[in-house]
Amino acid sequence: MPRILIVEDEQDLASLLEYNLKNDGFEVEVARTGAAGVTRARSFKPDLVLLDLMLPDIAGTEVARLLRESEGKRVSIIMVTARGEESDRVKGLELGADDYVVKPFSVKELLLRIRNVLRREASEPPGPLAGALKAADIALDAERHEVTVLGRPVVLTALEFRLLKTFLERPGRVQTRETLLSDVWGIDAEITTRTVDTHIKRLREKLGPSGDVIETIRGVGYKLVTPGR
Ligand code: CA
Repeated sequence: MPRILIVEDEQDLASLLEYNLKNDGFEVEVARTGAAGVTRARSFKPDLVLLDLMLPDIAGTEVARLLRESEGKRVSIIMVTARGEESDRVKGLELGADDYVVKPFSVKELLLRIRNVLRREASEPPGPLAGALKAADIALDAERHEVTVLGRPVVLTALEFRLLKTFLERPGRVQTRETLLSDVWGIDAEITTRTVDTHIKRLREKLGPSGDVIETIRGVGYKLVTPGR
């Protein structure tokens, strides 16, 4: 039974979510502050954290960072944001949140997103090919969730990892920003395609000179260039 930790200070909303998620077969715990959420996650080991961005003590983005630090990539995070918090939302996604919902949202929509994220995580350790994807000096081990450049490990967020994996799986093919948003972020997003650019920039920086394998196709998107092709 998947475990979900709700980090939400609005009592009514927290109770409503707890009730519906339990009804849907999840094991659920609730934390009312960011600090309590981080502590609870350590013992509860949730598969997914439903994380409100506006918390009374610590900002949700900071909680996401702390969760990634203590729980690693094992835990999925869905951010819950209010309208007009785009910069926080983008920051949240950059910190490795897997998805977000905007208040007010329907429980049905939320359940869909939760199942999507959990399904995506479950299908992540995939078939034989995924063991080691390579391009130039970059190697990605999907099973161990590791990326190396020239044999040296590079630390990527969950999203950057998926982004790189997507490129490595589709060498030489142009990926539009829209494709990347829907395949990597898993949302048919209005969160501007600029998010993709920001992410690619950071991913390239982390990959160092090898980051050049990701080529910008002006006005369209990006492409992984494989040497010798
Ligand atoms: Ca709140």
